[in-house]
Amino acid sequence: MASFTELVNGMKTTFRTGKTKPYEWRRQQLEGVLKLMDENREEIAAALNKDLHKPKLEAVVFEIDFCRNDLVDTMNNLKEWMKPEKVKKSLLNLMDTAYIKKEPYGVALVIGAWNYPIQLTILPLFGALAAGNCVLLKPSEVSWNTAQLLEKLVPKYLDNDCVKVVNGGVTETTALLKERYDYIFYTGNTFVGKIVMKAASEYLTPVTLELGGKSPVYVDKNCDYKAVANRLIWGKTCNAGQTCIAPDYVMCTKDVQEELLQNMKTTLGEFFPDDPSQSESYGRMVNSRHFQRVKKMIDSNQDSIAIGGDTNEKDNYISPTILKDVKFTDSAMNEEIFGPVLPIVPVKDEDAAIEHIVSGEKPLAMYVFSNDKTVKDKFRNSTSSGGLVINDTMMHAGVMTLPFGGVGNSGMGAYHGKLTFDTFSHNRACLERELKMESLQSIRYPPYTQKKMGN
Ligand code: NAD
Repeated sequence: MASFTELVNGMKTTFRTGKTKPYEWRRQQLEGVLKLMDENREEIAAALNKDLHKPKLEAVVFEIDFCRNDLVDTMNNLKEWMKPEKVKKSLLNLMDTAYIKKEPYGVALVIGAWNYPIQLTILPLFGALAAGNCVLLKPSEVSWNTAQLLEKLVPKYLDNDCVKVVNGGVTETTALLKERYDYIFYTGNTFVGKIVMKAASEYLTPVTLELGGKSPVYVDKNCDYKAVANRLIWGKTCNAGQTCIAPDYVMCTKDVQEELLQNMKTTLGEFFPDDPSQSESYGRMVNSRHFQRVKKMIDSNQDSIAIGGDTNEKDNYISPTILKDVKFTDSAMNEEIFGPVLPIVPVKDEDAAIEHIVSGEKPLAMYVFSNDKTVKDKFRNSTSSGGLVINDTMMHAGVMTLPFGGVGNSGMGAYHGKLTFDTFSHNRACLERELKMESLQSIRYPPYTQKKMGN
């Protein structure tokens, strides 16, 4: 294989030919991605199952069809999105044409994470292609089966001069980050996000950083606790809790905690009637490193286990686990859980919950369960996060017209739907004038006489 420098330079040369700019080329690539998804549904679902024991339904809904729906929408709207955007003009520019031209940046590096290894690579991939860029795709080595499948399939369906897949781990990504790109789109943890941004700063390359963190939940009194339990347990057990916007921990009063625990027991019995370890609807930790990390969290919080706490090293199984009476200083509150463990931290009221949230890093998502307008307003107006959902978890990610991204430590930039196209497009400010009526221009030319200043 060519060196990374040769690889990237080759793509730059191709980009400069202008090949990727016409609508027809972009459309062809999007059709290629659609075909890739449609002709390999089973193989993709199988790879996801091998990597994460991902249930078929989750593979279809959160990965394959999730991408497919966004892709079809992009295909349907691309012509419109590519059109120059006329802007309002002032009296001074009445005779001119002023517009924003959506331009591709050039060569984009897309670095994916392992937890949704199809969604997190395919969405930015086709968004960048729709915007007319060349793409170097670096899937996560942690979800190795999916990474290999992408390396095999992408060259079969897409323009090989303009789209490359590089597989590998930290060594390869570190080497890739030494090259100069026109855009970098990274999904993964905040620590590596900083490494990526440092590398990008060398050439002032623009970045999107889709990061993580602890996404808090507040459950108010007087809620339908069974509905809350369903929605929380669903968010926490999808992909075995390995979702960037999974509810990380719950804050509520002691009384609400008791109500929630009762209802969560019932919900878990309904979701996984034959024990989660036997259920085809429940995933596994991606590898032993992540299994050990979450197991350690459970082991050091043994006294707090209210539900679950079972583990099996042989297949990286961790049962849905609820911890009660957790304190903000406990180890489960130190880092993003990224597994099927849900601590409940009793607090006095919503103000105490808000105080905790605003004293930490801005989360990727925030979930508030309440019927009280005042409580909802307080969270909406006194906190900040990438996304806010009232009375559910994770559902905002499926609304393609909403930006998906973090703020502060949980990331910068956002995508999904048209915003993915916009992310990979440079807004070029264009003003077109005529070389006529030059006498009207003299007012702005020196000498700056008193008369010109209106005196
Ligand atoms: P990961 O281990 O797959 O890493 C992501 C990518 O970074 C990989 O391609 C990997 O090769 C690369 N990488 C890892 N270490 C590196 C290093 N030292 N230098 C350069 N590159 C390196 O995924 P992860 O970081 O474990 O992912 C989990 C995190 O990502 C969680 O915090 C989660 O919340 C977050 N996440 C965020 C989103 C989002 O959309 N905001 C989506 C998924 C995951």
